[in-house]
Amino acid sequence: MTLPYCEPFKIKMVESLRKSTHAEREEWIRQASYNLFNLRSEQVFIDLLTDSGTGAMSDKQWGAIMTGDESYAGASSYYNLKEAIRDITGFEYFLPTHQGRAAENVLFSVLVKEGDIIPGNSHFDTTKGHIEFRKATAVDCTVAVARDIKATDPFKGNVDLDLLGKVLDETPRQKLGCIVMTVTNNTSGGQPVSMANLRGVRSLADRYGVPVIIDSARFAENAYFIRMREEGYSHKSIREIAREMFSYADGMTMSSKKDAIVNIGGFIGFRDKELFRKASTFNIMFEGFVTYGGMAGRDMNALAIGLYEGTEFEYLESRISQVARLGEKMRAAGIPLQLPLGGHAIFIDAGTFLPHIPAEEFPAQRLAVEFYLEGGIRSAEIGTIMADRDPVTRENRYPDLELVRLAVPRRVYTDNHMDYVAAAVSNVFERRNEIRRGLAIRWEAPIMRHFTVELDLLS
Ligand SMILES: *Cc1c(COP(=O)(O)O)cnc(C)c1O
Repeated sequence: MTLPYCEPFKIKMVESLRKSTHAEREEWIRQASYNLFNLRSEQVFIDLLTDSGTGAMSDKQWGAIMTGDESYAGASSYYNLKEAIRDITGFEYFLPTHQGRAAENVLFSVLVKEGDIIPGNSHFDTTKGHIEFRKATAVDCTVAVARDIKATDPFKGNVDLDLLGKVLDETPRQKLGCIVMTVTNNTSGGQPVSMANLRGVRSLADRYGVPVIIDSARFAENAYFIRMREEGYSHKSIREIAREMFSYADGMTMSSKKDAIVNIGGFIGFRDKELFRKASTFNIMFEGFVTYGGMAGRDMNALAIGLYEGTEFEYLESRISQVARLGEKMRAAGIPLQLPLGGHAIFIDAGTFLPHIPAEEFPAQRLAVEFYLEGGIRSAEIGTIMADRDPVTRENRYPDLELVRLAVPRRVYTDNHMDYVAAAVSNVFERRNEIRRGLAIRWEAPIMRHFTVELDLLS
């Protein structure tokens, strides 16, 4: 018999979780105005709101915290991190930042100006925010098949190279700030980008003289999928694959809160010294001096180690298999999911789950509330509430899909927790016809309403 995957670590310290009662949860979610962001973490049993900054650090990382060097300039922790980044990504120059969006802010201060066109594969919200804030336009060139949630193509994170070529061809060179490739493609459901696609982007970029930036939050998970799914990579190490991915880029932004398994931090990697120098000025203004950039020395030490731990094959195999286990259990119960199962999260198709609740009553949010009531599980709505209103007409924008995302933190929960989640979701699925009504908005903010919206339960 082939031996099953298992975690390449054991547990040294535990944190207690308290199971609440259904009656307590009913009261808490009402007090939270049916917005899961308003819950206190003690009111949540299993927290799948996000995989960002919620991972568990290792004993080696905690050990390195104690030997962090807090010197303002030239700290040894900075050099530890510089060495790790050069080794894992191949980028010679780097700037630390306090998290991923700060890396975008600094880099785009150099690369993006008013009127620019920034093509790529579904830009992440903060990436798009930093582009639009500069009065530039993010153009989504993701392959069309990404919109078909049942299609099982192996690389639904790819860009459509013909479409990208067309955008590059139709835009004057001085308006092309850069191409942004997000790996894995978070917005399309944690779907990977193939090496062939990255190579194709590089050759188009060379033809038009445009820099390529990799938004690298989940680069290691992407490398794992390349190894498992793309011909010619099954015998390469994750680090060899990652180095090749980055070889097709001129720079990278990183949210270290994802694949580098730390609770806060980010950085920018550069190949070109001139670009690094220009960005350094903005780093000093927005983040901090170039050798700490908003990070404590101890956190840079932990990040340097996390980059190595997050690119070990056995770790990635256990992580991605755990996410898949959760998805497979739900699939077996008939729950409609986005396919193929993504690297960091499972996306439930709430429109199919609760077809009798109209989009105006926010079915995905209603479902997320129900998972909380059923098992104390916190998930995230990716549907009409998040899609917000049209800035001009102020009408609700109705996205193609109403999704609930269950994001799995790294090295935090056991497979038993995943089985519990699958069972709770299955219970809700069995009684889905009893959920007759959705929610109505009582109060909302003018933009990014999902974080603070207040809702009433319709009956
Ligand atoms: C999380 C994330 C970011 C932003 O990083 P923060 O650390 O949350 O600021 C950018 N891009 C992608 C793809 C992300 O997942």
